[in-house]
Amino acid sequence: MAKIIYTHTDEAPLLATYSFLPIVKAYAGKAGVEVETRDISVAARILAQFGLADDALTELGELAKTPEANIIKLPNISASIPQLKAAIKELQAQGFDIPDYPESPNNAEEQEIRAKYDKVKGSAVNPVLREGNSDRRAPASVKNYAKAHPHTNKPFAEGSKTRVATMGQHDFASNERSVTLPADDTLSIVLEKADGEQVVLKDGLKVLAGEIVDATRMEAAALQAFLADTLAQAKADDVLYSVHLKATMMKVSDPIIFGHVVKAYFADVFEKYGADLAAAELSPNDGLGGILAGLDALPNGAEIKAAFEEAMASGPRLSYVNSDKGITNLHVPSDVIVDASMPAMIRNGGKLWGADGGEADTLAVIPDSSYAGVFQAVIDDVKAHGPLDPATIGTVPNVGLMAQAAEEYGSHDKTFEIPAAGKVVVKNSAGETVLEHDVQPGDIWRACQTKDIPVQDWVKLAVTRARATGAPAVFWLNETRAHDRELIAKVNTYLLEHDTEGLDIRIMAPTAAAKFSVERMRQGLDTISVTGNVLRDYNTDLFPILEVGTSAKMLSVVPLIAGGGLFETGAGGSAPKHVQQLVEQNYLRWDSLGEFFALVPAFEKYAEQAGNPAAKVLADTLDRATGTFLNEDRSPGRKLGTIDNRGSHFYLALYWAQELATQTESAELAEAFKPLAEKLAAEEQTIVEELLAVQGKPVDIGGYYRPDAAKTEAVMRPSATLNEALASL
Ligand code: NAP
Ligand code: MG
Repeated sequence: MAKIIYTHTDEAPLLATYSFLPIVKAYAGKAGVEVETRDISVAARILAQFGLADDALTELGELAKTPEANIIKLPNISASIPQLKAAIKELQAQGFDIPDYPESPNNAEEQEIRAKYDKVKGSAVNPVLREGNSDRRAPASVKNYAKAHPHTNKPFAEGSKTRVATMGQHDFASNERSVTLPADDTLSIVLEKADGEQVVLKDGLKVLAGEIVDATRMEAAALQAFLADTLAQAKADDVLYSVHLKATMMKVSDPIIFGHVVKAYFADVFEKYGADLAAAELSPNDGLGGILAGLDALPNGAEIKAAFEEAMASGPRLSYVNSDKGITNLHVPSDVIVDASMPAMIRNGGKLWGADGGEADTLAVIPDSSYAGVFQAVIDDVKAHGPLDPATIGTVPNVGLMAQAAEEYGSHDKTFEIPAAGKVVVKNSAGETVLEHDVQPGDIWRACQTKDIPVQDWVKLAVTRARATGAPAVFWLNETRAHDRELIAKVNTYLLEHDTEGLDIRIMAPTAAAKFSVERMRQGLDTISVTGNVLRDYNTDLFPILEVGTSAKMLSVVPLIAGGGLFETGAGGSAPKHVQQLVEQNYLRWDSLGEFFALVPAFEKYAEQAGNPAAKVLADTLDRATGTFLNEDRSPGRKLGTIDNRGSHFYLALYWAQELATQTESAELAEAFKPLAEKLAAEEQTIVEELLAVQGKPVDIGGYYRPDAAKTEAVMRPSATLNEALASL
């Protein structure tokens, strides 16, 4: 029996679901379309580990491997350790009998508990569901809206000193080694210390024939020298110093790199007080914020604090995340995330904010050189030719390799900070060396896998999109990089399996590809970026932010390799700041546009899976309603007194009902929706008033990670008139 699964997740998208899903269910029900929910929130995933909730994630992971899959996936929390602990505490307070998180497990039982919690930690959902590659683009309606209502991309000032600094040697990009394995095998990763001791870092790593395996290291000494040099450059140029990493996704490597930056900036302080800080377990990897907050407990805390302040006064100017609150770029490792921070800076004329809140040019430090050149290429173009004009520029959609955890460089289970000098060796089951690197203490070594079937599917998807759009498709692959060379060989092989007659398909290194795409964009031309997993993530922020002002308005389809569909909503995350605003002001600024977009192909898929033409009518009418929604500018505002997420859902419901009432494919549906369309139109003012009336007061939703269903429903559905109209359908 075909059905659409709508996921319950976390934070803002979960709150929005309480308001939007009743509309979807009511409308879909009229067309005989089954919509069910599955809870994959971090709270539900914790409870599932202890048999206290269904293991919906595992179920959906299995479903994703079948042609029946039709899943709408909203953004979810990738829980850090502090978030995981907070969720555990909340669930315990709600009466669930679950154990504390064992910080350092002392026995087998605690180890088992820790292993359970580790399954919930970090990026635990997407790799399970992503049994397909990614097709992300700004829908034509969004692009047209942006052309008619362009946001401002500011010009770079004459002589702007803003630029990217990257290592270019001794880093992940340049030390990479890569092989394609000839047969199924089981690998292990061993540190062979200079003193002869062998330490197994990881074993039992299953690989399939044709799989690409690579390994690389970031050399700690070179990183330190690079950071000292960039600090001197920023000081000499009197620009803001900012570092751009991805500590959320690259959960192991990037906090370590961030820690090096904190230590480099405050080199004198760490020289003098490093032992005190270490003894108090104040780690630079957690950021300056955590260190400063912990100093009060130290006997010489005030003295150390003064030393930090003195260092900031005499060092290069830091960029600030929030000048009013004194939060610098170095306060929290996950505050500044490269994929969103770099395009936001470019949109702002290459300027970030300093201590006084004033804007200034910046030295944007992106240590690893794998993709740093992409941002520099866009900066160079904008410096030479002026800002990109959203009213006229073309679009750069993305076809991204990600199926079956392809190129998950962030994988925490294969990234290690090396404790001692020696060699890290990847061995096959016969004990032969597959890859090896000499290492020094402090180096960050990582391995990564990419299976063959996902690569084949990715090439096919690129050809399909090139054929569907007529736009050139550029594979962003660098033949001087080891992993990319293996991939290029596969791409060239698999392209031969497709009819590419008349298509423009190229392979270019990322920097050249970015330059090429931006030049075409200026001429109003579209260029498909066909990329690996990391650039999938970066490019689907970079180009949307420049083209349409945000990445929240993306269509994000994952055609599953087994034939089903996974429809991700938008390209953003779960927007924690939005929850704070709802709780304080009863105002939710989450934009559900990504959900609207995802439903259209889900209904289309359902029509095909169930042979139900009414589902296609739902898809077509929703698509047109979303166009009206955009033209009428019904997305939530950001401030009290404008319609919020709930009001935006009302307008979508109105336009959708009107489209259903007036379409001619299904007389039955037209009949069914006519009274509702009339009622919603007639009651518009009452409903909007009811929705506005609740704003401005704090609300209680009975939990953060597991809000109380009844309380949340009451908060998210405050219009009695709208609720009655929906019930009458
Ligand atoms: P984020 O949730 O995307 O939030 C960054 C900002 O983007 C928000 O504060 C908001 O800006 C804006 N935004 C994103 N989606 C929006 C929408 N639909 N409507 C309106 N504004 C939207 O990124 P984050 O803070 O880095 O990550 C938060 C959590 O999401 C983390 O746990 C992360 O791991 C997770 N995440 C999940 C996915 C996924 O499941 N696919 C993807 C990315 C991140 P304003 O505050 O200015 O309104
Ligand atoms: Mg991103």
